[in-house]
Amino acid sequence: MSVTLDDITALAKRRGFVYQSSELYGGLANLYDYGPMGAALLRNIRNLWWKTFVDDRDDMVGLDASTISHAKIWEASGHVAGFADAMIDCKSCHVRMRADHLIEDYFTKKGKEEKVEGKSLEELDALIAKEKIPCPTCGKHTWTTVRKFNLLFPVHLGILEESQSLAYLRGETAQGMFVNFKNVLDSTRVRLPFGVAQLGKSFRNEITKGNFVFRTLEFEQGEIEYFFDPEHTKWETLYEEWKKTMWEFATKTLGVNKSNLRWRAHTDEERSFYSKRTEDLEYNYPFGYKELWGLAYRTDYDLSQHIKFSGKDLSYTDPQSNKKFVPHVIEPAVGINRLFLMVLADAYWKDDQRRRIVLKLNKTLAPYRAAVFPLVSNKPEIVAKARSVYTTLKSAYPTVWDDRGNIGKRYLAQDEIGTPFCVTIDYQTLEDNTVTVRDRDTAEQQRVKIDELKGAVA
Ligand SMILES: [Zn+2]
Repeated sequence: MSVTLDDITALAKRRGFVYQSSELYGGLANLYDYGPMGAALLRNIRNLWWKTFVDDRDDMVGLDASTISHAKIWEASGHVAGFADAMIDCKSCHVRMRADHLIEDYFTKKGKEEKVEGKSLEELDALIAKEKIPCPTCGKHTWTTVRKFNLLFPVHLGILEESQSLAYLRGETAQGMFVNFKNVLDSTRVRLPFGVAQLGKSFRNEITKGNFVFRTLEFEQGEIEYFFDPEHTKWETLYEEWKKTMWEFATKTLGVNKSNLRWRAHTDEERSFYSKRTEDLEYNYPFGYKELWGLAYRTDYDLSQHIKFSGKDLSYTDPQSNKKFVPHVIEPAVGINRLFLMVLADAYWKDDQRRRIVLKLNKTLAPYRAAVFPLVSNKPEIVAKARSVYTTLKSAYPTVWDDRGNIGKRYLAQDEIGTPFCVTIDYQTLEDNTVTVRDRDTAEQQRVKIDELKGAVA
């Protein structure tokens, strides 16, 4: 991968994809605001995800749960007790970081790969001591012992301090599907196997290391809980089907290069004790292969935990056999902001020949399908004609108007936000009702009749 993270962050800021959050007041680390282009790209990713996994299927329904949730949910899920990062402090320069990142980065620089997930605090301490891993900030080896910090954001509900109750900002969207499982069963016509999908924000108080929007305190997830009867549906078959679906979404729907994607199976140490199989679809980001999309077979663990903690019956009764049981679940979980960063990195193209930067985004992802330019802005007939073309195109696709500066500068600006087509209205248009349509990737232009324009940018 030749594009650097600096290339991407510079373009993202310059063209209105991503800004530092609260920048006006000095900024907040690991939080970002999405600008006009970023908001459009995110929305397109979300819409394609929802269309693929909910609208186009007959075995899926959607859900939109609240982000503030009952503390018990997170006790049942294990997040209150176990959802913690192992942190370490440098006694010399006081930088605080995740112990797993410290170790993994140390080995990556040495050209080795070391996965430390699942190791105990003592094992992490021992590894850091054995390798004499230095502080990446000050270079010294003066670490505290490794300690755990819980990642959930507590929220205090109620106005009076003495009667406040503790809740949490959700640490994942998945729990919304489990705690509403019975509601969905009772209020819809679903029958096993079926999935519940949700798009929404989650929050984790992580101490992160840069990497732009890859890991942030507030992030958006696209999670699916696919429920099934393990006696009727072979989980291995289902698992392989989901792998194929996820792969196709990344490579076909989002158009990402296959050679930048790979599957990685979790080792026994990093896989949760209740999971029979977990694999990550990884993308080759500018900072290396990292998790994009997780796929886990979680058995009946989650529903069983909520049965235990709530005392409610969350079982399913088979309408034919009347067999009563707790369904099993397969969970494909993706970070929408990770899809966003993947799409930007994959589309970024430095065209040295024409001295320009191009985002080769899939047409369905680009913030605008087309840009419309009047060749000159001081000829009323040309401007009026261009306005009418613009209005027609805008009724079919997101379209932008630009009459600033010269045509060359307008092209460069559209290339950098990934607009597939630029349409120019010139003197010839007034004579024969044709316009030039310039292709983003080849920079070639052809004359197209205005009547056929909608089809030409389809
Ligand atoms: Zn230090």
